[in-house]
Amino acid sequence: NGVMGKTIKGTNHSKAILPNQKAIHRAAEDLKKARAELPIARSKMDIRQKLRRNDVLLLNGETGSGKSTQTPQFLYTEPWCKKQLIKIQNKDGRAEEVAVGGVIAITQPRRVAAITLAQRVAREMGCTLDRSTKQGEVGYAVRFDTVVPRGMKIKFLTEGMLLQEMLNDPYLRQYSAVIVDEIHERSMDVDLISGFLRLLIHGDKRGRGGVPLKVIIMSATLDLGGLKTFFAKPETKPDYEPGKNHDVFRKEAIKSSKKSKEDILSDGKAPARFGKLKGPLANETKSLPPKVELPEESSSEDDEGVAKNGVAYIHVKGRQYTVKTYYDEKPTPDYLDNMLKTVFQLHVAEPLPGDFLCFLTGQDEIETLKIQIEEWALKLNPKLPKIKVMPLYGSLSPDAQQAAFDKVKERYTRKIVLATNIAETSVTVSGVHVVIDCGKSKVKQYRPRLGMESLLNRPISLVSAIQRQGRAGREISGKCVKLYTKEAEEKMEHDEKPEIMRSDVIEAVLKMKARGVDDVLNFPLMDRPDIVAMEKALLQLHVMDAIDDNGILTDAGKKMASYPLPAAYGRVIVEAAKNDCLVEAIDVIACITSDSEIFLQPKSEEDRLEVEEHRKLINHPKGDILTYLTTLRKYVQEEQQNRLDWCKQHMISSRAMKMAVMIRRQLHQTCKSQKILKELPPSDPQPFKEPLPTQEDTLLKTFVKAFVSKTALMGGDGLYVTTLGRNPVYIHPSSVLYGRKLEAVLFLEHVFTMKSYGKKVSAVQANWIEGALLGNRDCEKEPGES
Ligand code: ADP
Repeated sequence: NGVMGKTIKGTNHSKAILPNQKAIHRAAEDLKKARAELPIARSKMDIRQKLRRNDVLLLNGETGSGKSTQTPQFLYTEPWCKKQLIKIQNKDGRAEEVAVGGVIAITQPRRVAAITLAQRVAREMGCTLDRSTKQGEVGYAVRFDTVVPRGMKIKFLTEGMLLQEMLNDPYLRQYSAVIVDEIHERSMDVDLISGFLRLLIHGDKRGRGGVPLKVIIMSATLDLGGLKTFFAKPETKPDYEPGKNHDVFRKEAIKSSKKSKEDILSDGKAPARFGKLKGPLANETKSLPPKVELPEESSSEDDEGVAKNGVAYIHVKGRQYTVKTYYDEKPTPDYLDNMLKTVFQLHVAEPLPGDFLCFLTGQDEIETLKIQIEEWALKLNPKLPKIKVMPLYGSLSPDAQQAAFDKVKERYTRKIVLATNIAETSVTVSGVHVVIDCGKSKVKQYRPRLGMESLLNRPISLVSAIQRQGRAGREISGKCVKLYTKEAEEKMEHDEKPEIMRSDVIEAVLKMKARGVDDVLNFPLMDRPDIVAMEKALLQLHVMDAIDDNGILTDAGKKMASYPLPAAYGRVIVEAAKNDCLVEAIDVIACITSDSEIFLQPKSEEDRLEVEEHRKLINHPKGDILTYLTTLRKYVQEEQQNRLDWCKQHMISSRAMKMAVMIRRQLHQTCKSQKILKELPPSDPQPFKEPLPTQEDTLLKTFVKAFVSKTALMGGDGLYVTTLGRNPVYIHPSSVLYGRKLEAVLFLEHVFTMKSYGKKVSAVQANWIEGALLGNRDCEKEPGES
């Protein structure tokens, strides 16, 4: 064959690849011994046996026992893990042949864990895994980075990605098994995944042609009783009462919401200027749908190992290495200062090798401590080992995150990783012998009455403390130094409240609807949010036209759910497409939903004046939304090689801008495939285009429509009063409108520190708000009409 036989000048494939492959195989052989010594190795046969006889397995074992890396490898060769061709009836009623199974999915709460675990397992299995890998048994999928090689048997993915896949593949036909790892983290997504898995294993199997889906739930710190009952066969009562859509019983409420949208959002407290309104929710009787009744917990198995309730259980005993723990004797008020001193005490006392992993609460703390450690390190006795500080938090670029995991290359140097709780579960940071835990973390808390989320710095739970401690003792025995007292640990909550119980459930409800749940109020959830919160979310989605009078997802709702964005931003996109400002809206949203804040905050008053001077040409008098638009457009006007300088000059985060450009491209592609965007905008660099004042107003009105609950009118003295609910709000100092007196404002975020602040603020007109609330024609007028 002419093509195959052709040699390309200068390349000799057989020579280039073979030694490399040999090295990979050798590395895998070397790891074999270590793997055989992991505590889980002893349970290999037991795990296989139990899953041959049962569809659900709860797997409990200490951190480092080998759950995440070994379990998928035990299972991918099992007889039930084969790709099969089945016949199904498609939507048009015709028979169709589809493939089911063959791949094992394993979910992770965070992207770093998904990627690093996939790479480790690939290494153990003797294959390579990087962005260019085309063939191999291991792959991964996280946002903006998916490697799915041919022949893939094991796929690590974030919880969000699995949910995203369910939009197109609700029966998870790709998979023979789903392993849910670190379930104790109880993110909103993992709670939804658990509900869907429960429906898939106990519900209608026709979608999978009768091929069972195996489910493995894993954690080191597991409340097993509850999970066992949750996944058990519903012998007594089915979750669903067939034919009864519990979301329709709100029909009347939903209908009346059409008439007075503002009531729903305001709890009946509308501002005087919009007239007195009655509140449909206030007069409702709260009729709860039947709660899912589940059978009594039972763990007994028959002689064949078949669990009576269908849920098998294995506890993997022991851990490979010990971790010694140390506590503070008395509480200290300043944990940052304590951390700094502890780091240096240990640095002097602990011999090399042995890196440190320090847990802090956020990026700011990490960057501050990094500077302090580096300053102190300069004053150390030069005979001591050198120090290399590596930050590790969510908004770092993937490469920068990876660097924290790599072994230090410099000789006679200790790596000190400063991490948020993204390093708390699943991961092994190579070289770490000592963990230092500040005992705090930032927790998102939703306040339903104010409709706002805030981040609170709080003591961690016992479950987190165990996980953090478990990041030591993974490659060798280790130490964990806790910057709190033993008594404080005894007082810790056992676990963090599940995210679904402390968030705005509108996201959860939209995700359920988009994945085919007609009856969200009766969807099986491990913890059920308050019925009032669920109803409010349904009504809000109705107000947004995401669901119709029967609670069925509309076209707009389908679109909203398909964007990797919070519901309200999805709403902006749908509205923007109508108002002919989609490209502009996407530019703004891409900036706002980037991983971290685009505008770096000046540290001193001096800095502030300088930044103001530099940003003069970017800052927009109408506020932050248009400032984001200008920023992105000025950024993409620059040639690639000048962008970093441009960012530095304007004190803008180059990393955040790069992410914004990726999000923008992803949104363009999604909108194009939905045919709301005619063609993809030309590629960068693009000349800067200043929007016309009327276009600016159209864009702002579009945002007002989606964020009407976050509008406020001037109340005097720097104070604004929210149009709905009448709560006080101030413009946050980070806004370009800080200190300005305006008729009305729109803010996209709400934080509560010393007082209630609106962030990302824009100047709007009171009549636009009125229009958005009352469906007033004024708001719908074409730009330029008076
Ligand atoms: P578990 O899920 O039970 O916490 P893992 O399967 O993640 O355990 O890890 C088991 C062991 O495998 C770790 O203790 C460590 O020794 C090794 N290991 C896992 N991932 C890596 C990695 N990326 N680099 C080096 N060693 C690793």
